[in-house]
Amino acid sequence: MKDYVIKATSGNGYVRAYVATTRNLVQEARDNHNTIKVATAALGRTLTATSMMGLMMKNENDELSVIIKGGGPIGTILATSDSKGYVKGYVQYPDLNGVEVQDYPNGKLNVAGAVGNDGYVKVIKDLGLREPYVGSYPLVSGEIAEDFTHYFALSEQTPSVVSLGVLTTATEVQEAGGLIVQLMPDATEETIATLEKNVSKLKSVTTMLSEGMTPDDMLNLVLDGLEPKILDICEVKFDCNCSKDRIKKVLISLGKDSLAEIIEEDKKAEISCHFCNSYYNYTEEELRAVLGEM
Ligand SMILES: [Zn+2]
Repeated sequence: MKDYVIKATSGNGYVRAYVATTRNLVQEARDNHNTIKVATAALGRTLTATSMMGLMMKNENDELSVIIKGGGPIGTILATSDSKGYVKGYVQYPDLNGVEVQDYPNGKLNVAGAVGNDGYVKVIKDLGLREPYVGSYPLVSGEIAEDFTHYFALSEQTPSVVSLGVLTTATEVQEAGGLIVQLMPDATEETIATLEKNVSKLKSVTTMLSEGMTPDDMLNLVLDGLEPKILDICEVKFDCNCSKDRIKKVLISLGKDSLAEIIEEDKKAEISCHFCNSYYNYTEEELRAVLGEM
């Protein structure tokens, strides 16, 4: 099954919902970065939410980045999405630098233990305006879904239900997905009550996916009695748009002196893309050309 996100509303328009299945893109992220299990879960949850948030943007060239920094051994998590929900991302320490984080007693991965909860979730939206929108809010749990719920409440005054899940072995992502359900202003008490009842009965996303449910099935559960209407079905994926030319910016950012030093000492350079771990090799000639442009 391909990765996709369903965009939907309730019949009365008071609720909007995004439901995602993202196993493949989380697998690709895992393979790119060789994350250990708990880091795969943290990165996968973040990528899944970021993809859905990317799809909330209006214009084709809009871009959204999420940075989560909670003081835990995973370091910083960074994810970026375009308006098609195509995402890329990485974590600073894919192996937590050897720090061991114990699973919860029920066997669930202790994502908050890896991420930490003393820090922030920062959302940067580049909407093509002169200045990007930047919103930064304190982390409340480090489990990521709760942190996005908090973000939506504070930044957009939008009451939201966010559920994210990744089920993985050491190397094989078995299930990944999520949902974001949001109440629009002026939602009726009846709508709110129905939604609350549905949400209270909802199992975890990975449980539902493991039971063979599709995003459509999950949507029907969460909007039960609210006449769900599908607006769009969007195929999403892990997508890095790096190229040798774009990576050149990294060389330029080093500054003339450092680059000259590299040319003198190494006569070549190998630069990797943070997002996808692709390697780009530069010969001495190419490096001199970059230096000449600076
Ligand atoms: Zn890349």
